[in-house]
Amino acid sequence: MSAAPLEGRGVAFRGPLVLVGPSGAGKTTIAARLVERHPGRFALSVSATTREPRAGEEDGRDYRFVSRRDFDEMARAGGLAEWAEVHGERYGTPAANLVPALEGGPVPVLDIDVQGARQVMKRAAAALVIFILPPGPDEWIARLAGRGTESPREIARRLRTALRELAEARSFHRFVVNADLERAVDEVLTLVEGAGGERGGGPGFASLRRALERGARFEIERLELADEAASAGQGA
Ligand code: ADP
Ligand code: 5GP
Repeated sequence: MSAAPLEGRGVAFRGPLVLVGPSGAGKTTIAARLVERHPGRFALSVSATTREPRAGEEDGRDYRFVSRRDFDEMARAGGLAEWAEVHGERYGTPAANLVPALEGGPVPVLDIDVQGARQVMKRAAAALVIFILPPGPDEWIARLAGRGTESPREIARRLRTALRELAEARSFHRFVVNADLERAVDEVLTLVEGAGGERGGGPGFASLRRALERGARFEIERLELADEAASAGQGA
């Protein structure tokens, strides 16, 4: 299907649209809703990964689950537009995912980490990178735990990565706080159309970032203490 070009940003926006932000901010949910609302205009970019599928995940829909050897071969052969190691596993965007948009197809929506986003920004000048933030520490931790897909130890690991991602947030183009999902999707669409949007580093953003960092540090400590107590209990 051919997509109507998105106006704004001077010329028709061909993407890619890149969503970054700490684990649990809602990148996957926002990307899915965006495509659901505008299926002809946007398409999810399905990444390749070496990590194991989680319960309910499907190969080819959620990720292309590949061996480390196949992943490295794809990268070596130039089949990945970007790739990075995240939480000890490799993740990458197949270069083929970016091609349909160049031929008038839907804009690819990439849900990737900050290292990958930097690579995309270097290679695709037209890329729009939006940093997604959860609305506050309590809501964020509740969402991460509520997703129910990771163990407490894995959540602590993701929070440590999140602290590094938050520290780099300022270097990205635009920010959307994901409190209400539909509003967050509306804000992403507004940014795509080229109107408005807060550029990095505003005062509201700085205090939200500090609150999220404090919340993450507190939660990491709590999870580590609980883990130590559980290990001591097992040893007794
Ligand atoms: P990410 O892809 O950034 O790691 P997810 O999209 O998996 O985050 O979202 C983390 C959890 O938060 C999921 O369980 C999701 O359903 C929930 N969630 C996402 N956005 C919202 C929102 N606006 N309001 C409430 N819950 C949300
Ligand atoms: P998850 O294991 O929760 O699905 O994803 C872990 C992290 O990997 C998330 O931060 C996600 O954005 C990132 N990620 C997913 N796909 C890609 C990709 O193709 N490239 C890069 N660089 N990161 C990715």
